[in-house]
Amino acid sequence: MKLDVERLTSEPTPFAFEGGTAWWRSHMPAQPGLPREVAEPFVLTGNAYRGSGEAILLEGSVSGALELECARCLARYRHALLEPFRLVLEPAGQRTPSEPEAAAALARDGLCMTDELEMGWYRGSEIRLDTVCLEWIALALPVKPLCREDCAGLCPRCGNDRNETPCQCGEVSPNSPFSVLAALRGGSSGGAK
Ligand SMILES: [Zn+2]
Ligand SMILES: [Zn+2]
Repeated sequence: MKLDVERLTSEPTPFAFEGGTAWWRSHMPAQPGLPREVAEPFVLTGNAYRGSGEAILLEGSVSGALELECARCLARYRHALLEPFRLVLEPAGQRTPSEPEAAAALARDGLCMTDELEMGWYRGSEIRLDTVCLEWIALALPVKPLCREDCAGLCPRCGNDRNETPCQCGEVSPNSPFSVLAALRGGSSGGAK
């Protein structure tokens, strides 16, 4: 996912990159909960152009799909994502990012993000978009993956998948604030008065 900076003009130049399982594995460190396979290759598309003062503007979106595990019913499902992005890159010049990670990124990719949202620095005639692409994918990933909005999940008592069949365990879940009340009531009913 390399962009030739020299060729960019004030006219939008379209770009398109694809990253499948091989790309994902070589760039994304293994993380618990994240699959090593890509269900549908990530596609990074957009336009790049030069703004004023040698700044480079990137606008586009990242799409693709991963197989994630539903946080409620634990079923694996295909999670499609689409993340729009906009990035303004200024020439780094003689500046060095204060954060070691950003400094390493600037040396490696010719590009690093700054503390400001949607802002970064670039250096050299070629920039690599792999790392920022991963960041955009990470932004699009759900904190709590759900196979569907109204997934009923597993019964906390008997483990039954409530999407398939209801069970007779009742509606009170351990996470419900009412379960505390139910426990109190249960505890006091037989206790001394
Ligand atoms: Zn589910
Ligand atoms: Zn149950």
